[in-house]
Amino acid sequence: MTRVLVVEDDPQLVRALVINMQARQYGVDAAPDGATALRLAASRQPDVVVLDLGLPDMDGVDVIRSLRGWTRVPILVLFARRASDEKVAAMDAGADDYITKPFSMDELLARLRAAVRRTEDVPLAPETTLVETDAFTIDLLAKKATRGGRDIRLTPTEWHLLEILVTNPGRLITQKHLLQEVWGASQSGKTNYLRVYMAQLRRKLEADPAHPRYLITEPGMGYRFEA
Ligand code: CA
Repeated sequence: MTRVLVVEDDPQLVRALVINMQARQYGVDAAPDGATALRLAASRQPDVVVLDLGLPDMDGVDVIRSLRGWTRVPILVLFARRASDEKVAAMDAGADDYITKPFSMDELLARLRAAVRRTEDVPLAPETTLVETDAFTIDLLAKKATRGGRDIRLTPTEWHLLEILVTNPGRLITQKHLLQEVWGASQSGKTNYLRVYMAQLRRKLEADPAHPRYLITEPGMGYRFEA
């Protein structure tokens, strides 16, 4: 059974989440505040954490940091508002994904399943070297990209970016993470680099670069490869 820890101080929302998750055979624990959440995370060892950022006793971002001190459990963050600074802080602290309130239960459950699945099939087994979409194919071992049977030439920087995204299918990768990985820690503010290189990748790989289907922008947050 998949165990979920729901951290949320709104009792009505907690009730709705618990009912819906239990109906789908999840085991659910609920914590109304950060201190209880940290205690339950340690004692119950959940498979996934759903965390509201606005908690009565502590900052949700600090809860994420505390959890990340000892566990890689997937964390799905709930936002009450469109405060993108807070979203970025939560993702940089180590959250795996986020959903903005109000959300539909179906959407939340889909994100939850995706977060759990990612831990189960681990980041792409080493022998998996081929990433195939309807538009393009990436051979990670041979470092080759093809589109419609034609080889696509990628620069080392484009390749590095693409590799990070396609080896984390469905996962939001933050701007900061991409910049640090590809350009180094000193360049973590240069989001314009990312925009330029992502536009180039889309021109080379997407059937309709203006309406990307695979290389998705999450405005203000980062990028996601939709497999
Ligand atoms: Ca709240």
